[in-house]
Amino acid sequence: MADKSAEDDLFDPNDETYGSADFLTVLPKAEFPQKTRAPRSVYAAVKDELMMDGNARQNLATFCQTWEEPEVHQLMDDCIDKNMVDKDEYPQTAEIEARCVSMLADLWNAPKGPATGASTTGSSEAAMLGGLAMKRRWEARRKAEGKPTDKPNLITGPVQICWHKFTRYWDIEHREIPMENGRLLMTPEEVLKLCDENTIGVVPTLGVTFTGEYEPVKAIADALDDLQARTGLDIPIHVDGASGGFLAPFCAPELEWDFRIPRVKSINASGHKFGLAPLGVGWVVWREEQDLPEEMIFWVNYLGGNMRDITLNFSRPGGQVVCQYYNFLRLGRDGYRKVHEACYRSAAYLASELEKTGLVDIVFDGDMKRGIPAVSWKLKEGVKTEYTLFDLADRLRSRGWQVPAYTLPANCEDQAVQRILVRNGVSIDLCSLLIRDIKASVDYFKSHPITRSVSEEEASGFHH
Ligand SMILES: *Cc1c(COP(=O)(O)O)cnc(C)c1O
Repeated sequence: MADKSAEDDLFDPNDETYGSADFLTVLPKAEFPQKTRAPRSVYAAVKDELMMDGNARQNLATFCQTWEEPEVHQLMDDCIDKNMVDKDEYPQTAEIEARCVSMLADLWNAPKGPATGASTTGSSEAAMLGGLAMKRRWEARRKAEGKPTDKPNLITGPVQICWHKFTRYWDIEHREIPMENGRLLMTPEEVLKLCDENTIGVVPTLGVTFTGEYEPVKAIADALDDLQARTGLDIPIHVDGASGGFLAPFCAPELEWDFRIPRVKSINASGHKFGLAPLGVGWVVWREEQDLPEEMIFWVNYLGGNMRDITLNFSRPGGQVVCQYYNFLRLGRDGYRKVHEACYRSAAYLASELEKTGLVDIVFDGDMKRGIPAVSWKLKEGVKTEYTLFDLADRLRSRGWQVPAYTLPANCEDQAVQRILVRNGVSIDLCSLLIRDIKASVDYFKSHPITRSVSEEEASGFHH
């Protein structure tokens, strides 16, 4: 229905929300609205529409925060006017960002010295910056040697989509190590097979998207040390610690994956994942100042000082960064460990309950020392079932749960898996309700045999 103003004269400020003139017609959906409406009505209409998004707390696909303390909500509101880019107008927010970078450099065991890094909108932007720095450093080295720079390549395992974007946007050959049956991660042997003089870097992932496991950063670094000793090729590592960067330091502190390894030159992590900040913040930190090429830095003057600007965005909200700082101060290492250990406990509970059903093989059980608090599984080989994992995902949606099922990337495209991401707030108690619903779904399929399974696309849950 057109957005006419015919009902304007019916407007009565004393009307009850849904009895008001604003609710007499369908609200505009495509054309730019003509008339002004009452805030209360529009708020009610928009909020109602958001109901259809589903309940984020039951979305077990996402790695991102869906629960925050009341103080975080308050700070986000307090910071609604803070623009991260405007370091002159908001010098204290800029200072807080710099403190966070220092704290992260400390957390990730960077050598002493000025911390070098930046906040971003998420790990994707941070990965672009870390990747670009590797490309620039490689180009500089090649040019100094009088060698061509037209064929850069990057080596990764089965990575998150942001690395596909990075290599495509910046014309870099992506050498992605495919999964094989029984090997779902990057291994030193596979990395070495792909290295050459045009390799700008190797990116292991600390918490692979598809299963949750950590890739063996230390073993890869050792293999690259050996390669350098044999051939002179010096290939740096950037760690995609989107999830693991905020887990391993607290829950697997003995695991060497960070700047303790000299070959690790940069790390990215998502503040809005296990950094526990609200959506919209990531981090990139370089090992030392010299690892960030000067030409990537835009110097901005503020309050007579000189401040680095190393982002792809210009204007950007500051609240997420402030809340990240709040979390660092509020939780400290002890608090982060407790929050994350609770997640690992929930994951262990889920893995053991799923295993007990006898219907599935666990692909990754959420072991604190080997990966993130995620559980992934496949249907038990050789056991006949009346349903697929896609049917199960589809059925669980009727109870509000989003538990994505998907096929693995190359070369395991035939293998369907399902995954639960345990975040802050996915308590053991909540997990027990989910397990109850999974069992009920399986029983349902017994009494209502599936005649035609849903396809991966139809069931598809977002699982990046
Ligand atoms: C989530 C994720 C990303 C992308 O991070 P955003 O913060 O969502 O941009 C990159 N790599 C890995 C391993 C991830 O889990």
